[in-house]
Amino acid sequence: MIFGNLFIISAPSGAGKTSLVRHCVGARSDIEVSISYTTRPPRSKEQHGKDYFFVSEKEFDQMVLNNSFIEYASIYGYRYGTSIQLVKKSIDNGVNVILEIDWQGASQVRNKFPNNTSIFILPPSIKELEERLRKRGQDDDNTICGRLSAAKNEIKHCKEFDYFIVNEDFDISVRELLRIIDVDKSRVTNTKINLILDKLLI
Ligand code: 5GP
Repeated sequence: MIFGNLFIISAPSGAGKTSLVRHCVGARSDIEVSISYTTRPPRSKEQHGKDYFFVSEKEFDQMVLNNSFIEYASIYGYRYGTSIQLVKKSIDNGVNVILEIDWQGASQVRNKFPNNTSIFILPPSIKELEERLRKRGQDDDNTICGRLSAAKNEIKHCKEFDYFIVNEDFDISVRELLRIIDVDKSRVTNTKINLILDKLLI
């Protein structure tokens, strides 16, 4: 039986993580991105079940009590978590799963499942990060300041990851990410992940 592998991708806001992941997933049928649960309200174009599962605080609490999450964290005042069941289903079906999560979640997954591959996406510079955040036109000055200081904190955790990609040129970064996935998906670690997940699901 061939199982898929677990990939963790983290980055500060504005480093281009979501676009990179979307591009990789769109190009390949053997890679899937896990859809997280969040208490954050949906943004204008976001869809329930596609971008996130948007749930209430109460529903999130219940999932925590039921041990439904591999990991969960509070970010910018909202909670985010990854479902064990959804990830297990994909891995059992031979799909490589990307968890697009922050460093806190990455650290929890690393502690529970040592056999994963973690990749950190870095911006070319803080100045470039600031320019990208401004170009998005999504946030006011205060929010951008907050995101930049959070980014500096997040970047400090880069050393905990297996790989890093400096996202200067989008096409090169996509190739780099796919190369890492292709190399690491062949590692003989999958059975262990499934045994651990099976135990957690009892
Ligand atoms: P946003 O609200 O902008 O979509 O995401 C904010 C942050 O939450 C991003 O850094 C994103 O990677 C992180 N995030 C999204 N889903 C999860 C999750 O399930 N767990 C954790 N730990 N972080 C997540």
